[in-house]
Formats: sequence, C-alpha cells, structure tokens
Amino acid sequence: MLLSVSVDLDRVSEYEAIHGLSRGEASDRVLQVAVPRLVDWATQRGLPLTWFVIGEDAEAPVQAETLRRLALRGDELGCHSFSHHYDLTRRSAAEMRAEIERGVTAVERAARVKVRGFRAPGYLVTDTLLDLARESGLTYDSSVFPCPPYYALKAAALAKLSAQRRVSRAILGSPDVLRAPTRPYRVGRPYWYRGTGILEIPIQVTRRGRLPFIGTALTTLGALGARLLAKGVLGEPFVNLELHGIDALDQHDGLAELAKHQPDLRIPWSKKLDAIDAAVTLLKHQGYGCVRMDELAARAQS
Ligand SMILES: [Zn+2]
Repeated sequence: MLLSVSVDLDRVSEYEAIHGLSRGEASDRVLQVAVPRLVDWATQRGLPLTWFVIGEDAEAPVQAETLRRLALRGDELGCHSFSHHYDLTRRSAAEMRAEIERGVTAVERAARVKVRGFRAPGYLVTDTLLDLARESGLTYDSSVFPCPPYYALKAAALAKLSAQRRVSRAILGSPDVLRAPTRPYRVGRPYWYRGTGILEIPIQVTRRGRLPFIGTALTTLGALGARLLAKGVLGEPFVNLELHGIDALDQHDGLAELAKHQPDLRIPWSKKLDAIDAAVTLLKHQGYGCVRMDELAARAQS
C-alpha cells in the first residue's frame, strides 16, 4: 500500500481569479512562504513530496532557486501547465501542446530534473489534452477527480458567483468525469473508460460516498474529521493525497482580502497542517509507505 502526497503550487492570483476578484495580494506567498512550511513538515515526517509547478513561475530566477532546493531534497517536480489557464481544455490543440511543453521545459531548466507527471488546471482534462501529455513524453497524469460532492459544490459555487454577476475564471467540466475509475488506470476513449493511453492517477476519493480526500477537505474538517476521512480510504492499494500550497497559508500571510471569499484561509495554517498531518500519520500507522508520485505510477503500472 502506497501513499503519495503532492502539492499544486497555484499562485494567490489563481484563487483571486476563481472568486472573480482583481489581482491584489502578494502572489509569491505560495512559493516563498507556504513551500518552506510544507518542506519543514515533510522533513520532520520523512515524507517525499511531488510538487506540480506552473511553468511561468519556474522562469523567475528566485523561484527557480526554490525549485532546485526541492529537487535536492529528493522531491519530484511535475508540470501544472505553463500559465494555469482554467479554460485550457477549451483552447486549441496547438495551445494545449504549447502549455504542456513550455511548462515541462521551464521546470526542467529551472530544477535540472526530468519531469514525468502532469496535473491539469482545475482538474479538467480531455482526450486531446491527455494524448498531448503522452506525446510530450510524460508518463502519467493526475487530474481526474471522480468526486460527486466536489462536482456539486463547484457547480453551486459557480452558480452563486454568476448570480452575483461576478465572473469566475474557473469552469465546470462535463459530469462524465464522475464515471471514471477511482484507482490508477490507463485511459481509453473517452478518458473515463479504461484503455491503453497514458496512466491516470485519479485524485483520491473515499471508498464509500466518494468524498474528497484532498487538502481542502482535511483542513476544513480539522484533525478529527481528517482522521475519519483517512479511515475512508484504508484498503486502497494506492492513495493519492493532493494538497495546494495555499493549505499552508492563512489570512495573516497578507491575504485578508482573499480570506473574505475563501473560508479555509481563516483557519490558522498550523491547524491546517495538523489536520493534514493527522491523516498522513494514520495512513502511515496502517502500513502505507510514502513515495513520490512517479514511483507510485511505476508501481501502479506493473
Ligand atoms: Zn492548479
């Protein structure tokens, strides 16, 4: 039984875009403040991490330095596209290809590592995007989120925003994603069927009720609820826990304005890390070995 913990390094501006806000607060907080906090925690726990990096960020020299340090720690660096367009799947194939290839190149140049994994912005993929990821030499994708409660909440949140006449840049994909397998599989056509395409490592859901086993759910529920959710994935051969950099930030990190729209920012970051830690510790005690996602992918493949 393997557990992989990955962190999407979405910038503060990505959240402002989701809530239909204009760009305001310091966008480098994730790489400069959240990353060191998560590294400290992971080091204490002897945990290797997989970071999904936005290519644009990797091109800034100061951020490249951060990525190199992560690689030296033994962590994996994956591609979270070049620009993090929430509507990537609605763009042309040429644009999708450029977003993957430029993203991979930027991270490889900055950190001097080979990139093997892709995570799409907003958990949204299409057959074309997955084909292009494979053609670009990537060995796995981890974006499919077959989680009915998450889908319903996202639909409700977007409907509320549009009723308030605020324009979110986030989009709702097709509900067909809810038909996808919940364990690693090779994608078929359409991608929610099994086939012979790229290996997909779905974002984790619980065995019963397919509740979201992701950072935001753990941090919102607190340590007690996080442990309950972790019990809900016990028995899964591979557990894919996805966090976001913002899970290690709160309103006191210069994010007071965003915290008005994003309730999890009102929880102190140390409490949020406690909740994530409670879930990971429970799984470790139950015999899960912690590996990078490329290692989990290799094991799931064989
Ligand atoms: Zn993202």
